[in-house]
Amino acid sequence: MTTIALIGCTGSIGRQVCEVVRAHPGRFRFSALVCEKNRTALSALAEEFRPAIACCAGDIGDFTAIFEGCDVAFIAAGGFAGLSYTLAAARAGKKIALANKESLVCGGELVMREVKKSGSVLVPVDSEHSALFQCLGFRRDAPFKKLVLTASGGPFLHFSEEELKHVTAADALRHPTWKMGAKITVDSATLLNKGYEIIEAKWLYGADFSQIEAVVHPESIVHSLVFFEDGAAMAQLGYPDMKVPIQLALTYPERLPCERELDLASLGALHFERLPAEKFPCFSLAVEAGKEGGTAPTLLNGAAEIAVNAFLAGRITFPQIAETVQETLARSPRTPAENFEALQEADLLARRAATGYIYDK
Ligand code: MG
Repeated sequence: MTTIALIGCTGSIGRQVCEVVRAHPGRFRFSALVCEKNRTALSALAEEFRPAIACCAGDIGDFTAIFEGCDVAFIAAGGFAGLSYTLAAARAGKKIALANKESLVCGGELVMREVKKSGSVLVPVDSEHSALFQCLGFRRDAPFKKLVLTASGGPFLHFSEEELKHVTAADALRHPTWKMGAKITVDSATLLNKGYEIIEAKWLYGADFSQIEAVVHPESIVHSLVFFEDGAAMAQLGYPDMKVPIQLALTYPERLPCERELDLASLGALHFERLPAEKFPCFSLAVEAGKEGGTAPTLLNGAAEIAVNAFLAGRITFPQIAETVQETLARSPRTPAENFEALQEADLLARRAATGYIYDK
């Protein structure tokens, strides 16, 4: 029996973790369920799964108590808020199933330091990084030549720059292959998400940025590839379904049955094309901030959270998401990512600068 403390239990990933637990009774149970603020959904889950702890984020004084007695800390909370949970779980030396991107994008340096110090085990849940993990034999320290992340390209892959000016929030929320929360769906449309995943891959696999690439693969069947020294490449394939990487993060190297096996003949063909970074500036802004390090990725992320919300509210256009991020980065001073407080400060600074840029001009 694997005991799980699930942070972010009412979100898109959290609900799928619950589905996995439901599908395998006797195999998993929850010691803690934590959500941001949806008390109604939380009480229904608490009623069903009977964890020792069920609470909203605002009610928590000390994170240590949440991770007491769990085998796996499953971090499915969205946004910068997820980082403090990941740090607490790492300090407690827990096995961490990590679905929160911002933990590594903003706090990669701090998280990896804590993981190393406590001997905590970090397991990726993001489908691309789970694919890399599988191709590397469930190791984060295996040798490779190059990591290639696949990207669906989002709903606007072949739109012209003129067309991009007129897309709406509803258009952006129609992702061609994956069903996800609103923020990450827009981040997939801007390709900011793929930039984030390059930063995640750097921290998870100790890769240099020069060893990580992204390629467009519209069908989202190949979830990522590892190239080795001899030119051999290994890929992991499957239908886009987050329950597979969620389940595997909890059971690897063991594999439990899944719902749908891949039917290659009915798929027919798989396609790959160059990622059009020039049309989607968020991608390069993210990679550049990742290369810069320190608080730069946190500034980028804070600005993006504000810009995406403004876009969803119909306040700014799609290209203005990238513009807001770029302006915020240009206006904000950087500091080293020494501790959580430095990142928190950068996050607030970026949110203020981005809000000012959007609403005061
Ligand atoms: Mg992904």
